[in-house]
Amino acid sequence: MQNFSFHTHTNTLGLFDGHNSISEMIDAAYKAGYKELGISNHMIYHPNMHTSSEAQKNDKMFHADKQKAKEIMSAVVEEIKEKAKTAPIKVYAGFEVDYFPSKRWRDDFEDIISAAKPDYLIGATHFIRTEDESLVLNLYHLKESNCSESEKENLMVYYWQNIIESIKSGYFDFIAHLDVCKLFNLGVEPKWDEWKRKVIDTLAEYNQPYELNTSGWRKVGEQHPHLWMIEELNKRDISIIISDDAHTVEHVAYSFDRAEELLEEINYKNRYKPKIK
Ligand SMILES: [Zn+2]
Ligand SMILES: [Zn+2]
Repeated sequence: MQNFSFHTHTNTLGLFDGHNSISEMIDAAYKAGYKELGISNHMIYHPNMHTSSEAQKNDKMFHADKQKAKEIMSAVVEEIKEKAKTAPIKVYAGFEVDYFPSKRWRDDFEDIISAAKPDYLIGATHFIRTEDESLVLNLYHLKESNCSESEKENLMVYYWQNIIESIKSGYFDFIAHLDVCKLFNLGVEPKWDEWKRKVIDTLAEYNQPYELNTSGWRKVGEQHPHLWMIEELNKRDISIIISDDAHTVEHVAYSFDRAEELLEEINYKNRYKPKIK
């Protein structure tokens, strides 16, 4: 069984959505037989984050101020690296980053990262947005927004487009849960298959690792991404990492045996682990 996860969350500084401390997660990982643990709290920053939605403005994990984001991201990395010194297993500090393609965002992101100095980065998309990023709407806060069903559906193009741009950016060690939008019943109709294929083609073209995220099994009864996408990416020989996306100690190594069985069944050999200096 894969004896590591690089996609996990903590409640560090009281500013993130994990339910346990760094030490509790390390302890749970050690007990689960992990040899390595990557802690990847959310880096959710965009200059238009707070003007886009009231709910986002009130969520302390959602940053619009670059300087503040820089301080918080630096502090969390520092705290993980401190705890890593006495841990019984190797512990790394990463981020699950909500990517945006604009030059403004990329410049700010590079600035934040060069200050925080994480060990690795996961590329994620939890947003729909307008093309110019004047509006950025988090999927988890969508029901509190003024966005109508048809507007949401129209903006879904930029969900897929965003994932494609995140792959092309070259910033990320691997890409998270390609079809996480299905948690919100978005992007599920057959018409979106064409976009899912474009995502697959881009992963293949850029030889970009991605994850089999087991959290889908506890949320919607299906892993991320769809099995047909995993099978297609296996044909293209793109490497895959299993992620528990643990937000609590109980989630550590969640359904890893099932994930291993699935990969065994389809003879998926090309497995990924971030190379950390
Ligand atoms: Zn995520
Ligand atoms: Zn996550």
